[in-house]
Amino acid sequence: MKAFLLLSVVLLAIWLWRSNRETRLGSKPKNPQARRAPLEMLGCSVCAVHVVAADAVHGKRGVYCCQEHRARAEP
Ligand SMILES: [Zn+2]
Repeated sequence: MKAFLLLSVVLLAIWLWRSNRETRLGSKPKNPQARRAPLEMLGCSVCAVHVVAADAVHGKRGVYCCQEHRARAEP
């Protein structure tokens, strides 16, 4: 009886640990909006159009919306 009690306590502890770990791991893909929300926007030095930092073209004199504007500003 004592062994059964010990086993059930150990199983309960493992189950609690696993469910706690799964919720922590599972919480990340649940709210991708929260991770994506703070998108950095950069203004083009030529036309002032704001583009997402990942899509912006970085030049020597600033940030541009496209290669064409970078070439125009930095010949
Ligand atoms: Zn531009």
